[in-house]
Amino acid sequence: MIDKEVAGLIEMERHRQSELINLTASENYVSSDVMSALGSVLTNKYAEGIPSFRYYAGCDVIDKIENLALNRLLELFDSEAGNVQPHSGTQANMAVYFAVLNPGDCVLSLPTMSGGHLSHGSLVSFSGELYKFIHYSINDEGTIDYENVEYLAKKYRPKLIVCGASAYSRIIDFERFRKIADDVDALLMVDMAHIAGIVAAGLHPSPVPYADFITGTTQKTLRGPRGGFILCKQKYANAVNRAVFPGVQGGPLMNVVAAKAVCFAEAMTPEFKSYISKVLENAKAMSESFLSLDFDVVTGGTDNHLLVLDLSKFEFNGSQFTDMLEQVNIIVNKQSIPNDELGWKQTSGIRIGTAAMTTRGFGIHEFNKVVDLIELLVSNFEENKEYVKGEAIKLASDFPVYNCLVCN
Ligand SMILES: *Cc1c(COP(=O)(O)O)cnc(C)c1O
Repeated sequence: MIDKEVAGLIEMERHRQSELINLTASENYVSSDVMSALGSVLTNKYAEGIPSFRYYAGCDVIDKIENLALNRLLELFDSEAGNVQPHSGTQANMAVYFAVLNPGDCVLSLPTMSGGHLSHGSLVSFSGELYKFIHYSINDEGTIDYENVEYLAKKYRPKLIVCGASAYSRIIDFERFRKIADDVDALLMVDMAHIAGIVAAGLHPSPVPYADFITGTTQKTLRGPRGGFILCKQKYANAVNRAVFPGVQGGPLMNVVAAKAVCFAEAMTPEFKSYISKVLENAKAMSESFLSLDFDVVTGGTDNHLLVLDLSKFEFNGSQFTDMLEQVNIIVNKQSIPNDELGWKQTSGIRIGTAAMTTRGFGIHEFNKVVDLIELLVSNFEENKEYVKGEAIKLASDFPVYNCLVCN
């Protein structure tokens, strides 16, 4: 790169990533094919519209790329229709809302505090500002209170019910949500941002038979570029396409659309399925190790790629624990736990995910070692932090981010 300043910073970030044990549940490492597509000439092209109906000339190759991405997406999830243009998961959600709601309409969802996403009606998001969101709750076991969903649906008769979360470690009962939606004539949207890769691998029940709309991101368990997508029933395809463009976006990022196409093809392979089963195995192993060391795991375990630790019994909160872990090169997120007594700035928990480090080659042995390091840190932070940091760097460096990097 000619720009030494930016090149230097990219190099610094590469180094930082390599020395860290990354337990961020929403992150992953893309393949070099995905990376090549992202850094390609496709970024130069404007392509407002959809294939064969563009507002720009010269889109014949671009059309082939978008059709390829869309067809692969539909094949991967066995869906009738969809859209690969949303710039992010939030944009995908925004487009679905824009397609079916009017400002002020009522929507039922899980609140951010309980693991829902900001775009599910948080007051600091467009969603909470434009629509009237009512939130269902989590019961004392930490799982969705389906009776509460039913009760609120009958009471408020929402136009749309949203399920799917950012920090929920159990299988979501899409069939039950469908029934509740049908009972009150509501539409059902499943936001599978976090679990898209697990659904693709067939290791989480698919929402496709039940939902009117499914939104997702490609950057999390699906291990693709940063971006969003939408699946829907054929009868909503035009409304969704119009909502994405010109509704809430301008020109698609065609380099990202090509990278999504690569990601969808990768997700169809037996290797990907085996990767996802390892991600799940590793999350289970970590959760069991934490439990055996007397940590509290919200819901008592996990069915997917993440777990939430309840830190209520310690003298540090989620935010402080996240900082302590960062000092020893272990990266997690602070996370609210069900009925948290602390606010979102502090929180009483942390969220841990296994998707990223499993990509780097971590197995049960390494994840258990991480749990042991965390236990050591908790038992005496000041005394053990230098040792734990050294061990964490060693462990992370044994599993480089890119063994053979094809592109910069
Ligand atoms: C991550 C996430 C999104 C989208 O995030 P973006 O950063 O906008 O791509 C949407 N919904 C849920 C449930 C998520 O976890």
